[in-house]
Amino acid sequence: MNENLTSDSVWKRCLKVIRDNISPQSFKTWFEPIKAVKLDGKSLTIQVPSQFFYEWLEEHYVSLLQKALKQELGIGAKLEYNIVVGNGSGNNNPYTINVPTNKNQKEKSNELSMPLELTTGIRNPFIIPGLKKINIDSQLNPKYNFDNFLEGDCNRLARSAGFAVANNPAGTAFNPLMIFGGVGLGKTHLVHAIGNYIKQANKNKAVLYVSAEKFMNQYIDSLKNGTNNDFLNFYQYLDVLLVDDVQFFSKKEKTQEIFFQIFNHLHQGGKQLILTCDRPPRELKDLDERLLSRFKWGLSADLAVPDFETRIAILENMMYADGITMPRDVVEYVAHNIDTNVRELEGALISLLAQSSLNRKEIDLDLAKQMLKNLIKNANREISIDYIQKLVCEYFTISVEDVKSKTRKREIVQARQIAMFFAKDLTKASLKNIGSHFGNRDHSTVIHACQTVNDLIETDKKFRYDVDELSKRIKINTF
Ligand code: ADP
Ligand code: MG
Repeated sequence: MNENLTSDSVWKRCLKVIRDNISPQSFKTWFEPIKAVKLDGKSLTIQVPSQFFYEWLEEHYVSLLQKALKQELGIGAKLEYNIVVGNGSGNNNPYTINVPTNKNQKEKSNELSMPLELTTGIRNPFIIPGLKKINIDSQLNPKYNFDNFLEGDCNRLARSAGFAVANNPAGTAFNPLMIFGGVGLGKTHLVHAIGNYIKQANKNKAVLYVSAEKFMNQYIDSLKNGTNNDFLNFYQYLDVLLVDDVQFFSKKEKTQEIFFQIFNHLHQGGKQLILTCDRPPRELKDLDERLLSRFKWGLSADLAVPDFETRIAILENMMYADGITMPRDVVEYVAHNIDTNVRELEGALISLLAQSSLNRKEIDLDLAKQMLKNLIKNANREISIDYIQKLVCEYFTISVEDVKSKTRKREIVQARQIAMFFAKDLTKASLKNIGSHFGNRDHSTVIHACQTVNDLIETDKKFRYDVDELSKRIKINTF
């Protein structure tokens, strides 16, 4: 071993490995605050800011830490934690407690075992009927199931189609089932949920989850090793094949060809295929037409960005799963401001936890605002009329066109009046300007709207509740 190794140099190199394996946000949150403090032979001690931090690392990153450490220090590498107790302010140094890692911890391997090793026994073309299918590792993540995949308008079709397929693989018209949607919207979660469900109900079915990228790498390896027949046999032997991120196949002609062959074989043999893609099939470029047309054979269902209520439900579910509680206004604040995708929602929650753990502060609205400032693009935005219209319409589930239209339907008129009321109350816009935002109505209409809303707040309880609720939602966005 190199004599000049120091705790710093070893840790720096570990960090390089770690950085390549996780998102920049997780890296910043969980690894940047760590200090390496001691190297004793093969034992590296790192200092973490709190007990919570330590637990989180152990729970979520233990295999990655082990992998990095083993790479740098070889077999027998050991990690010890030094947890800072007390805030270390003033002249006192923080106390630290040492926690050795659990030595018995089984090393979790995220590597996909090459299917070629698993094919022993299927080279024989005479598969005896009734013989159990060989026990292939499905590569499914047990963490993802239907129960923790929350339903909303954004995913109803995809989720129920997935559930139908899970209940009756290859027995529905949804073959292949193609799930598409942007990053972080739950594609991977949903396919794992389907796979897990099938596997649970049918222990003997050969189910395999694979990313398109992994599939390609395995194929290339098999070409190198002259084992591409085994590769083909293995895949053709499956009962259920789940391929994640098929957009990756574009421009990979050879891989498309072999996948086409496998697809046909499985489909003709009455086997189920489930695919995900980050865009609708018609937008897939550089993909063989034949393959593309097959992708469209079954059902394509999309995952969209969840609405406000679903975002709240998802956040609450994550908190519940991790045993965390947070004030309702904070949950609403986060759900309101992180409206891009579920992964970012998750990231925001984690950052909040980390911040509160680091600063030993309860999570409250101030902390959330301060924290999310960096994550929210339009921080400090002024409230605009458009924004008010958007929120009011979302709340009453009507369209913005409706409030701008001439329609006199009661519920639309009411939403329109409420939006005008908030526009007058919360923006600096003139009555004339407000009117023009609502399908060119004149200033007297706006005055009338404000009066009506004020009257109804006094007299109608349900109405008052709606206005209060909306007011909270609108104001939550201003700092
Ligand atoms: P994608 O594969 O589309 O990029 P993922 O499946 O990796 O997205 O989802 C990102 C994160 O969001 C995961 O942690 C997943 O569990 C979570 N998630 C996505 N959709 C939902 C949902 N409807 N309910 C609960 N969690 C969700
Ligand atoms: Mg994914």
